[in-house]
Amino acid sequence: MEEILTLPSLRQLIDEANLKTKKKFGQNFLLDANITDKIARVAGPLNDRTVIEVGPGPGGLTRSLLLAGADRIIAIEKDPDCVSLLYSLVQAAKGKLTLRHQDALTLDYQALLAPQTKIIANLPYNVGTPLLLKWLPLASSIESMTLMFQKEVALRLCAQPNSKNYGRLSVITQFYTSSRILFDVPAQAFTPSPKVTSSIVQLNPHKHLPFTACPKALEHLLKVTFGQRRKMLRSSLKNFVDNAERLLENANIPPVARPEELSLEDFCRLATLYKEHHHP
Ligand code: SAM
Repeated sequence: MEEILTLPSLRQLIDEANLKTKKKFGQNFLLDANITDKIARVAGPLNDRTVIEVGPGPGGLTRSLLLAGADRIIAIEKDPDCVSLLYSLVQAAKGKLTLRHQDALTLDYQALLAPQTKIIANLPYNVGTPLLLKWLPLASSIESMTLMFQKEVALRLCAQPNSKNYGRLSVITQFYTSSRILFDVPAQAFTPSPKVTSSIVQLNPHKHLPFTACPKALEHLLKVTFGQRRKMLRSSLKNFVDNAERLLENANIPPVARPEELSLEDFCRLATLYKEHHHP
């Protein structure tokens, strides 16, 4: 992949094409190869893997992924100006990089997921969470996800019970994966700089779910309970089941508990009973 090292710098490409960053596409580019190389490195081995990258932008992280040995990258970019800018990289990658000019939110990922697929991306902050929620149910077909989020979202993904960041997103993420923050990236590392710090999160799908529950029931339960975060469970559940107190007692959960006190295991146990007793 030496051809990549002979390409013009990202800054040069951007200047020559007079590319203007667009807020509506959540564009905060990483132009420093030290940072993109580090992201590629922490994503683990890339040879014999398919990598899905959402939002390659000018292609900094894409270059790092190719240099780190990625065998096949499918990069999905919505902005036509970035797609044009990436042409020289597609050529230099000699068949290893497939660029799709598409909205990543509307894609059928099931069809894209070859065995040993990793998703690695500096996500546009405005669609990061909806994208993750699309990927989580497919987690068993994904080897790992190494993703940049706003730090505030990263903290929610990895939060534990009894903390202010713990909520729906924490439980559903941890139902499917084990997640941890690997490192923070300061706002100044991006062009343009966002207002907030970002974090790289590693999400490793569980090979076998540690706790089982019907995902739809779990999601509904999370919506209903965290939707009224400060309420006791017996009160937030009362409109959805005939006898909320008894349901909670059967699940071995104090009816006066609040949702942030429940572990993933508690939620799964409750979701299983909830599914039986819930009246739609
Ligand atoms: N990967 C590049 C980097 O690290 O410098 C760019 C990251 S930038 C935070 C997010 C990228 O996602 C932008 O290039 C933006 O145009 C693209 N993007 C935004 N919304 C998108 C969507 N719905 N589908 C695909 N790409 C999108």
